Amino acid sequence: MKDLPLVKQADIKPSDVVFVRIDCNVPLNADGSIADTFRLEVVTPTLQYLKDKEAKIIIAGAIGRPHGKRDESLTTKCIAQYFDNILGRCVYIDQAYGPKVVEAIESIQPGQAVMLENLRFWIEEETNAQTLGKDLASLADAYVNDAFGQSHRNQASIVAITQHLDSYAGLCLEKEIDSLQVVLNPVQSPVLAIVGGAKVSDKLGVIEALLEKCDNVLIGGAMAYTFLKGQGVSIGKSLCEDEFVEKTICWMESGKIILPRDSVIAEGIDSTETSISSEIDNDHAGFDIGPVTIENFSQYISEAKVILWNGPMGVFEKPQFAQGTNRIGNAVASSSGFSVVGGGDSVAAIRSLKLADKIDHVSSGGGATLEYIESGTLVGIDALMRNAERKTDA
Ligand code: AMP
Repeated sequence: MKDLPLVKQADIKPSDVVFVRIDCNVPLNADGSIADTFRLEVVTPTLQYLKDKEAKIIIAGAIGRPHGKRDESLTTKCIAQYFDNILGRCVYIDQAYGPKVVEAIESIQPGQAVMLENLRFWIEEETNAQTLGKDLASLADAYVNDAFGQSHRNQASIVAITQHLDSYAGLCLEKEIDSLQVVLNPVQSPVLAIVGGAKVSDKLGVIEALLEKCDNVLIGGAMAYTFLKGQGVSIGKSLCEDEFVEKTICWMESGKIILPRDSVIAEGIDSTETSISSEIDNDHAGFDIGPVTIENFSQYISEAKVILWNGPMGVFEKPQFAQGTNRIGNAVASSSGFSVVGGGDSVAAIRSLKLADKIDHVSSGGGATLEYIESGTLVGIDALMRNAERKTDA
């Protein structure tokens, strides 16, 4: 993207203090250890870049939803430990600002880091309070937003802070935006979107935006049954949002939507006895796309020049209903088109299939990815742009 101020353009000198907002909302095990480090891996290049510049790095983010209360089960201590191994030294501080943090920054060497406590222990983070934005900014010489997955949230460490410091997009944020721009402003076609998951209602704006940008939209997951009902297909006990059937009928008029032709059906989500059918009787529900659909979808995928995949094709958490999601994951990974996979479940599927290396961009954002597709920007990105404009005007 043209006007986004980038960390690579920032004049960072040795010993400058750089505040880096990351998305460290990682899943935790019962013992407090990190269950999945993906969100930390994607921001490591920015931290390494700043280490190489010999900056003093402040790392900040939030885990869970403590809503302004200290909760020891959501401390960022484990994140500090992770980056201590990666960066050589990362000192955990149980505060977000104030003398203790200032002292810690003074104590570290250039190229080392300080990890602030979970910012959501302070309610001012969630309310985007200028006071907190100012307190956080007072710690540093520059601000870097590398938290794509949080950039749709109007929070003090995403928005307010940019009013008080020179602000830049980190390498992860830049790559997220660049990759989504390939889908939203494509120079090659056909452009294909694959949308799955539970509900049409969660993805109304996204489907509408994709119908404008894409040549075809493949629909899988439970949401497909709302579409199929509108087409007069019997869907049995499958999940369906009746109030959106009319909407799906309108969307079908675009001629771009491709629906499943068959399903893996069962009496219930826990039953292991399954069969394949295109029409579903009242005792059964569809829990995955069937083999004919997989073949048809795979054909579209193999011909596409640009592919965006968001949402599982079925109840992929259960092995008997995981085939559709796994096969579509493999088809996307083997496609020669530019591929972007976003959304927690499709990313989890790609990672568990060990296919991440074969995807051009695996997005670290869930809600942020959907909101960016829908509106073409995020509040955190707007805040960086405004900061850059103020600098140009000054
Ligand atoms: P979402 O959060 O909207 O992406 O939806 C993901 C969830 O949808 C996953 O937990 C899947 O198990 C579930 N899902 C996908 N397909 C189906 C289906 N056919 N029936 C019931 N649940 C489904």
